[in-house]
Amino acid sequence: MPPKIFLVGGLGTIGKRVTEAIRKQNDMDILGVGDIKRSRSFVNYTGQQLASEGVDLYALPDKMDLFREAEIDPTGTIQEGIEKADLVVDATPGGIGEKNKPKYEKAGVKTLFQGGESASVAEVAFNSFWNYDDAKGAQFVQVVSCNTTALCRIVYALKEFGVKRVRGVLVRRGGDPRQVNRGPINAIIPKHHIPSHHAEDVKRCIPDLNITTVALKVPTTLMHVHSLNLSLEERVTEGEIIEQMEDTTRIIVATEDIGNTAQIVEWARDMGRKRYDVPEVIVWPGTVKVEGNEAFISYAVHQESIVVPENIDAIRSVLEIEEDRDKSIKKTDNALNIRDKLTF
Ligand code: NAD
Repeated sequence: MPPKIFLVGGLGTIGKRVTEAIRKQNDMDILGVGDIKRSRSFVNYTGQQLASEGVDLYALPDKMDLFREAEIDPTGTIQEGIEKADLVVDATPGGIGEKNKPKYEKAGVKTLFQGGESASVAEVAFNSFWNYDDAKGAQFVQVVSCNTTALCRIVYALKEFGVKRVRGVLVRRGGDPRQVNRGPINAIIPKHHIPSHHAEDVKRCIPDLNITTVALKVPTTLMHVHSLNLSLEERVTEGEIIEQMEDTTRIIVATEDIGNTAQIVEWARDMGRKRYDVPEVIVWPGTVKVEGNEAFISYAVHQESIVVPENIDAIRSVLEIEEDRDKSIKKTDNALNIRDKLTF
């Protein structure tokens, strides 16, 4: 019997995507989705959709009636879901996962946390490429944030050129499309602290890397954009960098006509991708430049979906379903239809 995974916070942006991704794998099953009720309409359409597809929903004991009002019959309480699961994915908002942790400790259940939690929440900060093996059998693992995941993938793609130093400017979306209470609407907000936490988070996955990041928030909801300057041990050409990107899964090199985040999203819509998800990092070839041992590169990151494949690999590693990192990555990518090109 494949292991049963329980999603806590499973109706949210990351939770619903990880739930769907688990259902597409043939070596793990979804036990159910637990969530609190934020508003009736929220339980209504996200919850009803999952329930109509046969996913069991779990609620807090005093919120059962609110689910019933939304015509969803909860299978049990969130606590019962935690106790029945082989592994919990906690996809609650940053800080709530840490508060939930004593429940997971008490149940003795292995748990994945997300990037919004503080580093102390887990013994392993997970990126599929860099430390799949470290998470094997661990009780608590954190799948690092969207920005950190993208940085890890890009540095991994350039690994064989000897990455000596990374300096990155991270242009971050103000909020996700549905987050009407986030901003800015008409400002650019720099992070008044260098390095931004992303550099520290990357070092939890790649301990010896010399990396500094600065971050700013801008009025957009579609994607983040990173602009990196890297010092490499080897002298390489722009063509060689692009080739490495093309050869690394979960990274796509864009075509000339898909030169900004809006066009990437339009591509995803045209492809019929659910929620216009783009779990691949999209590199723009025109931003790749080499001067001596220095390389420049910019790319786009779809914050809502990039960490989904990493969550699936982390489940395989923690539950020791698959010994081999590359086999896990391949299984995940095939099941999620991860592409290596934007063109047909
Ligand atoms: P979200 O607000 O969209 O979803 C969180 C869900 O958790 C909601 O459905 C909420 O009702 C539920 N919830 C809250 N408290 C709960 C509790 N005590 N028990 C059960 N359910 C509870 O949040 P999100 O954007 O999906 O973020 C989740 C985590 O993923 C955070 O750590 C965040 O930093 C990280 N993350 C988010 C993004 C992104 O762009 N949205 C990207 C990468 C990582």
